Amino acid sequence: MSQTLSCPKCDFETNEVLAKCPNCGRRLQSAKKVRILGWVLVLLGAFLAIFMGGLGVVLGGIISRTGQPGETSRFTGGPEVVLFIVAIFGLVIFFGLLSIAAGVWQIWYGKPNTPLRVLMFVVAGLLVLIGSAVRFLD
Ligand SMILES: [Zn+2]
Repeated sequence: MSQTLSCPKCDFETNEVLAKCPNCGRRLQSAKKVRILGWVLVLLGAFLAIFMGGLGVVLGGIISRTGQPGETSRFTGGPEVVLFIVAIFGLVIFFGLLSIAAGVWQIWYGKPNTPLRVLMFVVAGLLVLIGSAVRFLD
């Protein structure tokens, strides 16, 4: 394994032993640490995608069976609520897939992928925004 150090903020890379990035002053990460974090991202992303996917299937089943005789679980929301749930599930699964992609990239190259991180940050921000909007509506 190389001793390459990379900056998590800018794309600075070096083979010298430096503690901080000369461009932006952030602590540099070793390729080994970036790879370990990559595995964390992959596991987290896989968990999110599988968990939300499974939950989506269960919920979809409940929604599609609503109104049928003999069904104990009922879904009372309208079509806009269904669309809303699908959007949130889609976003979380998308976030999980992004996390897997970012993790695989880090394991493969030993350095972070800045555009992917920015995209993850945007999706996470959207989810937080939707979450607070829901709380506001209640
Ligand atoms: Zn930097």
